[in-house]
Amino acid sequence: MKKKYPGFNTICTHTGELEDKQHKGAVSPLYMSTSYAFTDVDVKRYPRYFNTPNQEGLCKKIAALEHAEDALIFGSGMAAVSTALLAFLSAGDHVVLQQTLYGGTHNLVTEEFAKYGISHSFTEGWQPQDFEAKIRPNTKVIYIETPSNPLLTLTDMEAVAQLAKRHGLVSIIDNTFASPVNQNPLDFGIDIVLHSATKYMGGHSDICAGAVASTKAHMERIFHLAKNLGGSLSDYTVWLLERSIKTMGLRVKAQNGNAMTLAHHLKAHEDVNAVYYPGLEDHPGHVLAKRQMKGFGGMLSFELKPYLDSAKFQKNLQLIKSSMSLAGVESTVLSPKDTSHGLLSPEARAEQGITDGLIRFSVGIEEAEDLMADIDQAIKETKLSASYAGGQ
Ligand SMILES: *Cc1c(COP(=O)(O)O)cnc(C)c1O
Repeated sequence: MKKKYPGFNTICTHTGELEDKQHKGAVSPLYMSTSYAFTDVDVKRYPRYFNTPNQEGLCKKIAALEHAEDALIFGSGMAAVSTALLAFLSAGDHVVLQQTLYGGTHNLVTEEFAKYGISHSFTEGWQPQDFEAKIRPNTKVIYIETPSNPLLTLTDMEAVAQLAKRHGLVSIIDNTFASPVNQNPLDFGIDIVLHSATKYMGGHSDICAGAVASTKAHMERIFHLAKNLGGSLSDYTVWLLERSIKTMGLRVKAQNGNAMTLAHHLKAHEDVNAVYYPGLEDHPGHVLAKRQMKGFGGMLSFELKPYLDSAKFQKNLQLIKSSMSLAGVESTVLSPKDTSHGLLSPEARAEQGITDGLIRFSVGIEEAEDLMADIDQAIKETKLSASYAGGQ
């Protein structure tokens, strides 16, 4: 039986809010205490125990947004990733991870796990059989990210969840790119969902946080490690994050709409080679996206024609910023060859489909017309300088 939840925007606005009993204020009061009397109560409250009033309130909201029984909020997305993974992995265990992952997660696994005696395998593709091929007798966890960065590749959540269940493994998904607005992985049988709340949950490029949601039993195990590792989030930032999430549904839906408009615009552009967006009918994951996503998201990538220099194109943008992070209300772009995939050789990048002209686009909430105009003028400028340089 599926539990009934209030509507999405109602959860965003109200679930978990704290009552201001003293002054009847409209928003949750902020309790900054790191010390609470415990003489006649059961709960020993302390920020690093993840149980201050503001932390508990926001956890309720995030659990409801992800159709989970419980949730925890962390000081960063990576604190959420590392705590969730290590809670289910011990020395001698093995984890199967999707081929393309967020760079920080890739580094955590490849740079740190061997020290703890944990081995890992990356899949060679995105199909369920690619995951099955890597399972060993000591595998404990399957870890996925869909849509993935930067080509917006899709993984079948239900198939991976079933595979994990058949082999007695815990399935974990990084749901950052989709946000709970566009995707609820637990409804497809995935065990644990996590987020870099720095991205769509925060949404204003001014909060660094993470979140994990799952069943009470799984969250109990994650909590046990979390309080020992100490990656809790300050109550002030918890309070800001609660405020941010109130508008998440509105923001992300506007971003979905803009991304679709921009994807079509870029696809029709004579100086653009390819557009990667799950909402486009010719995207390889489009059918799957319609099955498992409620919206196609605010992230897309596009490839400039080879005669256009991607660095010059970014410099020529006037409204859209060239920046590292994503998911803010402001539109940003970056070039994977200079950032997330900068350490790979051009050949290794090309093997993953990441050409030098690839631009990752985090679409904001500005007017779509203004975004299109900015891209068009930047391409035009870049083309002009290219033809001068070529002596034409
Ligand atoms: C940013 C990001 C993370 C890491 O989050 P931080 O808040 O930077 O620690 C993890 N996964 C994805 C998909 C991200 O985009």
